[in-house]
Amino acid sequence: MHRTGIGYDSHRFAQGGPLRLGGIDIPSDVKCTGHSDADAVCHALTDAVLGAAGAGDIGALFPDTDAANRGRDSIEMLTIAVQRILAMGWHVHQVDVTVICERPKIGPHREAMCARLAHALSVPPGHVSVKGKTNEGMGFIGRGEGVAVIAVATIAPRGQ
Ligand code: MG
Repeated sequence: MHRTGIGYDSHRFAQGGPLRLGGIDIPSDVKCTGHSDADAVCHALTDAVLGAAGAGDIGALFPDTDAANRGRDSIEMLTIAVQRILAMGWHVHQVDVTVICERPKIGPHREAMCARLAHALSVPPGHVSVKGKTNEGMGFIGRGEGVAVIAVATIAPRGQ
């Protein structure tokens, strides 16, 4: 039996790179602002993984009222979420991620992002998909004010 979870996150851009996304630092003139390192890809994936297992959400696991989460590496949060579902008898099977922003282009960084995420998720790199899209100039994303990420995670019982 497999289960699927969905996650969404968005963060506002501020001047000054690099842009931390999917556990890597992308050369950019903007960066995401947030309580942790503001890695929207890791946050959406963390919620997708937790959601698949019915294990709550990132806000409950890593509250922004906890000083320990200030500036925190979101790859570490994703890894902890994966450990949480492992303890519940699940493992991550495969994930699919869509990053929506006008810039920078995601394609050139896809391979590095997939490798970093695969390590955190304990899956082969081929089980991680990252896709980039623009918002065709519409809305806050179109105006270059921030980035949004949608992630889907499929999990399976351990040993399968
Ligand atoms: Mg976030």
